[in-house]
Amino acid sequence: EASAKVIDGKSVAKEIRDEITAEIYRMKHSIGVAPGLAVILVGDRKDSATYVRNKKKACESVGINSYEVCLPEDSTEQEVLKYISTFNDDPSVHGILVQLPLPLHMNEQNILNAVCIEKDVDGFHPLNIGRLAMRGREPLFVPCTPKGCIELLHTHGVSIKGKRAVVIGRSNIVGMPAALLLQREDATVSIVHSRTKKPEEISKQADIIIAAVGQPNMVRGNWIKPGAVIIDVGINPVEDAKSPRGYRLVGDVCYEEACKIASAITPVPGGVGPMTIAMLLSNTLISAKRIHNFK
Ligand code: NDP
Repeated sequence: EASAKVIDGKSVAKEIRDEITAEIYRMKHSIGVAPGLAVILVGDRKDSATYVRNKKKACESVGINSYEVCLPEDSTEQEVLKYISTFNDDPSVHGILVQLPLPLHMNEQNILNAVCIEKDVDGFHPLNIGRLAMRGREPLFVPCTPKGCIELLHTHGVSIKGKRAVVIGRSNIVGMPAALLLQREDATVSIVHSRTKKPEEISKQADIIIAAVGQPNMVRGNWIKPGAVIIDVGINPVEDAKSPRGYRLVGDVCYEEACKIASAITPVPGGVGPMTIAMLLSNTLISAKRIHNFK
């Protein structure tokens, strides 16, 4: 029985982090500057707090200075904007990240617009996204999760040019930029979303599938063309009495079925997740090098 190659995001991410560590060391010793990342967290969502904690730990491990601001749920938009403006002007900060989702009373658009594009390491500023979508333009930063997906395809020698790719999901932070990136790499891209009829018929044509939906095990065996490469972005907790925490994490793709049909697949956890953080560190380093003109 055929079995797909496992695309080990954890080990690829580790290699990237080692390279970043070495590069930051070289930067510190030659110009006396270390990259700095400012993270703004509003409210007390547990998942957001975990993501922010992991990002901070990752920064420390490679030598990036991290500055964290935690604001209460009932803060005003003005308070958040004030911090963004302070970080925009702070020369020790090279990247600014506002952890999403924001509380509902805040206007996400106003807040993302306020981050200066030179420090927009999440790549969510509309100018960066706009440039990503336009031919002949270059964004200063590419959003971390989709960038990590493409990086995994590259490191595993998957050619993208001329291939049929299907992205399932069209969110601003994952699906849409993933589709733009694949198109920039000369794939022919289809986008499947919640209103798509017979999504499995479209998905089955793909040489490359990126699934970013948030529905556990939605992509079944009959959605997959034999030999396809699958990047599973989904992180979904499902009940599991056997696990000490009472739940375990699964992707958007039914791994057991996909393994038998695909030629390669990312596991959940240990696939895209670690790559997202590695790309954030990479974007922060890119930013610091650009701002200080360090080659
Ligand atoms: P969103 O909820 O913002 O977007 C989900 C997308 O999936 C939407 O475009 C939606 O369509 C589409 N969708 C929902 N249900 C269906 C369906 N039944 N059939 C087809 N399409 C559907 O999620 P995100 O993009 O933020 O995240 C997606 C997943 O990726 C989540 O599991 C999240 O936890 C995970 N994630 C993982 C990261 C990582 O580092 N590994 C980082 C970020 C997210 P429509 O637009 O029509 O509503």
